[in-house]
Parts: sequence; C-alpha cells; structure tokens
Amino acid sequence: MSAFDTIVMVDWSGGNDTGPTPRKDAIWAGVSRGGVSDAPVYLRNRSEAELWIATLIDAELAQGHRVMVGFDFPFGYPADFAGALTGSSDPFAVWDWFEARVEDAPKANNRFDLAGEINLGLGGGQGPFWANGLPNRDITGLPRTKSDYTNPFAEKRAAELLAKGSFTCWQLAGAGAVGSQVVMGLPVLSRLRARFAGRVAVWPFETPDAPVAFVEVWPSLTVGPAPDDMIKDAWQVQELARQVSVLTPAELAQVFDVQAPEEGWILGLGVEHLLKAPPPLRNDCFALPPGVHWTPVDDALERLRARLHPVLPAEEVGLGEALGRIAAADVRAQRANPPLPNTAVDGYGFAGGRAAGAHALPLAEGRAAAGDAPGSLPAGHAIRVLTGAALPAGVDTVVLQEDVTIVGDTLRFNGPVKQGANTRKAGEDVTAGAVTLAAGRRITAADIALLAATGTASVLVHKQLRVGVLSTGDEIVEAGQIAAEGQIFDANRPMLLGLLAQFGHRGVDLGHVGDDREALRTRLDAAQGEVDAILTSGGASAGDEDHVSALLSEAGALDLWRIAVKPGRPLALGMWQGAPVFGLPGNPVAAMVCTLIFARPALARLAGQDWPVPQGFDVPADFSKRKKPGRREYLRARMRDGRVQVFASEGSGRISGLSWAEGLVELPDAAADVQPGDLVRYIPYGSFGVT
Ligand code: AMP
Ligand code: MG
Repeated sequence: MSAFDTIVMVDWSGGNDTGPTPRKDAIWAGVSRGGVSDAPVYLRNRSEAELWIATLIDAELAQGHRVMVGFDFPFGYPADFAGALTGSSDPFAVWDWFEARVEDAPKANNRFDLAGEINLGLGGGQGPFWANGLPNRDITGLPRTKSDYTNPFAEKRAAELLAKGSFTCWQLAGAGAVGSQVVMGLPVLSRLRARFAGRVAVWPFETPDAPVAFVEVWPSLTVGPAPDDMIKDAWQVQELARQVSVLTPAELAQVFDVQAPEEGWILGLGVEHLLKAPPPLRNDCFALPPGVHWTPVDDALERLRARLHPVLPAEEVGLGEALGRIAAADVRAQRANPPLPNTAVDGYGFAGGRAAGAHALPLAEGRAAAGDAPGSLPAGHAIRVLTGAALPAGVDTVVLQEDVTIVGDTLRFNGPVKQGANTRKAGEDVTAGAVTLAAGRRITAADIALLAATGTASVLVHKQLRVGVLSTGDEIVEAGQIAAEGQIFDANRPMLLGLLAQFGHRGVDLGHVGDDREALRTRLDAAQGEVDAILTSGGASAGDEDHVSALLSEAGALDLWRIAVKPGRPLALGMWQGAPVFGLPGNPVAAMVCTLIFARPALARLAGQDWPVPQGFDVPADFSKRKKPGRREYLRARMRDGRVQVFASEGSGRISGLSWAEGLVELPDAAADVQPGDLVRYIPYGSFGVT
C-alpha cells in the first residue's frame, strides 16, 4: 500500500474558461486510491479547480487520510531567477510574488503584461519570457518571437534537461508551451499552501511527511497513449494517479529521494520504471466472440497475443544476473566498438597503402600494444604493432609480420598493400548510441558480450514471471508416495516446472488437489499475490469431474477454447484473483504440446518478452501419415541422418514418446498425405526454448 491513501493528479491549463462541455486542453483531475481510479473530473476554469481541490483535501483530511496532489507544471524556475525576481532563492517567494500580482478571471488575465514587466526589469525587455499569445495587442517588453529574444537565465531547469520532450517554462504561448501554466498556477499553489498551512509539504522543497503533499508531475514521462475513446488529458491524470497509487512505500521513498532546492523536480524523473508498472489484465481478456466453435491454431495464437500484455514492472540488474532475463527498455552503446581504430594482426603500421614492388621504411622506436594509449608516428616511418593495439596517429595501414623482413632499422616488404589493410575502423562493429539491446528481448550470453563491450554494466529488465503449477485429479499421487490401485503418479507437475525453468520464468509449485472444488478454490486463493499466472493440468474439460473449468466458470471468468489442434482438449482459460489461469489437458502429451504451442508465447508476453515464434525446418519425412482436414497436428519427432522420424504410437498417454522425441512435426490444418521423402515441417524442442 502506498503511504498516501489518495492520489490526485491535476492537468493544469494557462488558458481561459473552457465552457461546460468536457474537452481537451482544459483542466482535468484524476483520483486513485490503491490502484482503483475514479472517473476523471473536468474542471472548466482555475477558480473552479482551486475550489474542487480544496474541498477534496478537506474531505480527505476529515477522514484522517493522507493525500498527494500532483500538478503538471514546474514548481520553480531555472536557478537564479527566484533571487533576481524576489531577492531570495526561496521558491515560495516566487509563488507569493505571483500570487500578489496575477489577476485571474475566467475570461481574461494579466499574464502577458506581467511577463513583459518582469522582462523589462530583468532582461532589458528581451527575456527571459517570450511569446505573446494576444494576436491583437503588442506588449512592451515581451518578444513575440525568438528573433529578438535573449535570456539572462538558463533555458531549462536541470529536470527539463533530463526529461526528453519537456518544454521550457519561459515560453508563454504556442503548441506545448507551459510558461502560462506556471504563471497562472503558482498563485493557486500559493493560496492552497496558505490554506492548509502546517498540514501540507511541497516536494522537493520540503520533506513530504505531512498529511498533504503537493508534487510536480509531467504525465508524458510515464503514461502511454490514451485509449481511443478517451480525451488525452483525462486519461493522463487517471493513469498517472493509478501509477503513483500502487507504489510501495519503499518505491515511493526512492521516487522522493531528490535534491532540487530551488528549481524543483518532476516526480518520477530518473526512476520512470517504478511508475511504469503495467496495468493488470482485464477479467474478460480471454472472452471469445459469440458463436465461435472451433478456433484454428493461428487464430487462437493471434487472440492470445492481442489480449495479453506485459504485467511486470522493471528492475535494474547487473550483467552478471542478466542472462535469460527480458529487457524492459532499449539499451544504447555508451561507447563505440571498437572505440578506436586498431590493428587486427601483429605486424608493422605506417601511413597510406603501397603499390606493387619492393618497399623500405625506417622503423621508429618502440611499439604499440593492446591497451597502450595511442602515440604518434613520425612521417615516413613504420612502427611495430600488436593485435588489438590502437593505431598511433599517422598509422592507417598494417602489413603482416609474416610478410616483412627487418634489416637493421629498416622494414622491407613487397607491395601491393591496400590503404587500411589489416586494421579495424572505430565503430565498425557498433557506433556509440546505437541500440545494443531492444526492449522485449530475452538476454543471451552473446547479448551480454555486446553490452559489456559497449560500456553497459547494468540493464533494466522485467521482474521474473512467477508461474504457479497445480495438478488436479483424485487419481494423482506424487512420485515417491504410495500409489493405490487405480492411482497414477503425477507426471505433469514436474514436467511443467521444468519447462517453465527453461522458459526463464520462476515456477511456483502449488502441489496437487483432488477432484474437489472447494479444495481447488482454497489452493488457488492461497496462491494470490505469490504468482502472476497459473498452469493447471487435468479437469479442464466440461465433464462432471472437471473442477478447474467449473470453478473458473463459477467465478464468471472461464472461457473454454476449443482449438483445432491434436493432441489437445479444450483449453480452459480464465482469471483467478487477477492472475490468468491456463487450464491444460491432463494427458501429459497434450499438456506438453499445449504448453509449447500456446502457454509458452502467452507467458512470454506476460513476462514482457517479444512474442516468440518457434522456427521450424522443412525436412524429408522418414514416415508416412495421412490426416483429415480440420485440425493441426503435432507429432513427437526427431531428426536422424537428415530425415525426420515420428514416434510409433500417437496415443496421448505415451510419455515415453515425449522423452524419445527431440521436437515436433507440425502437420497443416488442411488434409495431408505424407509419404517418405516428402518435406514436412520439423520444429526442434530448442526452437521452443527447451531441451
Ligand atoms: P483429465 O484432463 O482430467 O480428463 O485427464 C486426462 C488424463 O490425463 C487422465 O487419464 C488423467 O489420469 C491423466 N492425468 C491428469 N493429470 C495428470 C498428471 N498430473 N500426471 C499424469 N497424468 C495425468
Ligand atoms: Mg481428471
């Protein structure tokens, strides 16, 4: 739970009253409590907004709540402005200065005149403010454009230099300008601060441990694009309020840990990943359109891809822990590889190429070895160079040591030698700033080499997906226990935990429950908060003892996907306490095939990984097989001597065949009549990320 009960985010406006109908570029407020947001509130002008905020704070305080209110305009100006304007570097002096002078009525205000006055006083009438938004009235001291503008202060605050795409507070009009919002917002902040004196702390100027905190925000920092049916400003305040309301106290402390005494800071700047934790899945994310009976494999996959999204926040890990993790943000090269031009061989370096024929060059003293800082070579000379050495200034070509003779102090060799021979150019592999790791990629050992070589020591990765595994059925006992007649050992749970480990997720063993709905409910409830997704096996059809599907459907969140695939039974998909549940068939063969084909990409997507498409190969069959149209078929298979064999029996209880196989043959949805030698699609287990 956040340390604040209520989070309010306000999208401010420097303009006039926007009328009674909700519209964009007006003032909007979003309220969220513990991740649950109210509908955004439209506020047509600043005095209405001020009253609404004050009333809300009163109500929250009356209930003993702590409330954070965020405003999307700078709380301070670039360094030294406060002192020049008020004689004090205290940002609140600037708030009060504006409060005493700004006249604000719904249809008119004096912000441009005031900016002109400030400019005349501080910048000879040419700055720091610019852009007069009044088309019909010139304002003395306020440049209309940047052509005769000079600014005695910094263009941007330290925060804005870091926040890509943010605007300077000096520009008062024009697309994206925030200057007017500040001038028209600070008086409101000043009054609210006075009204709640002793109960409000303004971050980062004061420690936010009072019942009320005012913070500066910039929604574009962490909020993605608005859904089609929402006004952008409304979406941004609602979503930012939600993001902040789900921060843990430790995360909030990290967000607040900023020193920016005069200029202020944007909440979350520098730790955006803490706020960007993704929204939960919708409860109806597996719902099928009405009338769907059999779903082809490709449609089912496309549906999963479209309905699911990453559910995990990011964390920073060192390269030593990055293997198999999923990049949460693009990484760029800190440095080029190679960083400097260097020699690819042991030999002798000099300037320019040499034509055919014999050449002799005086040898300079010393040598250049890997790790040496590049020196310089006198013109017309050659120098000894060792593999990996940065080329000394004056060297652009290297001749192999095997191709030369040294006579006294002279290097002799035969041309031609092309200019640039045996050297590597700086950045020929990777240029500085190039993307070395793309978000969504599962990090390989080779990726780690590239990251290290280009100066990256730690990466932002998604937290690991925790996947619960539960077996169901009265007939199931764990290997090692005593099995009564009629009972079988649990093969699925250890298999699924093994597959999950190879996918890179954290398997959570939820054990086994019998065919008992209440026991199943209790077990799933107990897993809440411990898992991000759940795999069950058995009991997923629509029969009397199919308690997984019965329970999910009782909770109103079951969809039985009848996928046209063999082996496979209906896949029971549902949500339990916010976690997606994949109800796999009980038969181990079907359970494994469904996991590889459907659960694997679905889990990858939840984990933040790019949708994985298993790569197959068309190879000659070493078998014959006839199939009817309608269902895609997967056969347990392996390659021997360039041909693919399939397991003798297709029975879906044959676990030995799973173990025998090293991959799957995929037969198309259409009818097929495979003869030995025909090409069939073989997908090795490795293409599913497993062995
Ligand atoms: P069900 O999907 O519950 O109808 O089960 C289909 C078949 O799979 C039955 O023969 C079950 O006994 C078998 N089965 C179910 N769960 C497991 C398991 N965890 N390990 C091995 N076989 C299982
Ligand atoms: Mg069963």
